[in-house]
Amino acid sequence: MLIESLLGKRLIMKSYDWIVVGAGFTGAALGYELAKKGFSVLLLEQDATPDNATRYSYGGLAFWSATTPLTRKLCDEAKTRYDVLPQELVANIEFRELDLLLTIDADSDVDAIYKFYTRFAMQPTLLDVQQACELEPLLNKNSISGALTVKHGHINPLKTTQAYIQAFLRLGGKLEIDRVLQFNYQNSQVSVKTTTDIYYAEKTVVCAGGISRQLLKESGISIQLYFTHAEILETPPVDIKLSTLVMPAILQRFQLEAKSSENDELWCEPSNEPETAILDAGVVQFLDGSLRIGQISRTFSAGDSKDQSQEWLRSRISHILPALTNVPAKWHHCLVAFSKDSLPLVGAIPNTEGIYIFSGFSNPLVLVPPLAERFASWVSGSGEVGRVLEVGRWGKFLRCTLKELLR
Ligand SMILES: Cc1cc2nc3c(=O)[nH]c(=O)nc-3n(C[C@H](O)[C@H](O)[C@H](O)COP(=O)(O)OP(=O)(O)OC[C@H]3O[C@@H](n4cnc5c(N)ncnc54)[C@H](O)[C@@H]3O)c2cc1C
Repeated sequence: MLIESLLGKRLIMKSYDWIVVGAGFTGAALGYELAKKGFSVLLLEQDATPDNATRYSYGGLAFWSATTPLTRKLCDEAKTRYDVLPQELVANIEFRELDLLLTIDADSDVDAIYKFYTRFAMQPTLLDVQQACELEPLLNKNSISGALTVKHGHINPLKTTQAYIQAFLRLGGKLEIDRVLQFNYQNSQVSVKTTTDIYYAEKTVVCAGGISRQLLKESGISIQLYFTHAEILETPPVDIKLSTLVMPAILQRFQLEAKSSENDELWCEPSNEPETAILDAGVVQFLDGSLRIGQISRTFSAGDSKDQSQEWLRSRISHILPALTNVPAKWHHCLVAFSKDSLPLVGAIPNTEGIYIFSGFSNPLVLVPPLAERFASWVSGSGEVGRVLEVGRWGKFLRCTLKELLR
């Protein structure tokens, strides 16, 4: 698009088909899929060095965790997608299979927890304490009353994101490091104001993870997307060798998310503290030998609780895996987006023109690759999807639920 400046200079302002805001796993995958469909795409990311939920993620792929025909379809699609992704992106994303060990606390009801897991497409196997310790020799046998195990996919989330971005750039996509401040729609295009510039596109899609809600609010757009403050410890490569990815069988985080999103109004007032913090003690070892130990989730700012958090994380993980007691580790914090009903927020935002959202995934590393592909097909008119049906309860926001996306 050509615009005459008031000073008489001729400024050439490039207008894109799509601007994707946020280059975490979600924005990188969607940017790539849109570019693959032939759209001109600008990816805007505020940080030159990733410091986001993708960066601190465990990288687990719970293909087994489908609970409905819809999520089963997506999990199957994701598996097929991951089988070709390393070749397609021409990168080593460290895609592999691990044994997931879901620990059951010493004072918990093993049978009730086993029953809970019967809902999943692939039911984990129940292990007694001895079997669990054979699978994961570093386990403290006194910390558990049993465990469940299932085959779990694994990637390096940062390498996968970088692989998506590199492939996106090879397709002619543009990446700018700049912070988006506001959206506007005029003259049939969206203007995206950043700290240094204004960019234009026919459409823009927000993939800013846990920051999406606040970012859209700056433009007067409200969406029911929430976030937790997650805190973890990360170690450099260590000599200790874990045999499994360890997580608790009952994740308190899901309860925290469900409870804290019951009343949207609480989220409109930043000083509110919807729920108290929880800790789901888990650890994963990456191929380079480094560990991520987590995970505290809070619905309010981590503030100056860093020292207490480190102590909390260390004491819980040493109880379960005593060999990790003295590993050198650094504390990290990030925001993790989630939605009210664990279905992602994917689609056009009503009462706005040209502004879309793609966030709030409960199982993002599995769901994003197939849904990014479907989203790109939908907007290019080549897919079956395209119906945005459900009017959100608050009457403002239309959602394209998984059901509609998969039609
Ligand atoms: C400890 C931990 C363990 C996890 N384990 C798993 C797991 O095993 N499996 C799984 O599926 N998921 C897991 N997750 C969740 C998952 O990794 C993340 O939810 C997912 O990577 C988020 O991707 P995203 O792109 O939506 O958000 P992010 O990675 O947070 O990226 C959002 C990006 O948007 C950018 N941005 C924000 N605002 C702006 C702006 N105004 N302008 C420009 N850029 C902006 C940010 O800088 C950021 O880079 C885990 C998360 C954590 C924290």
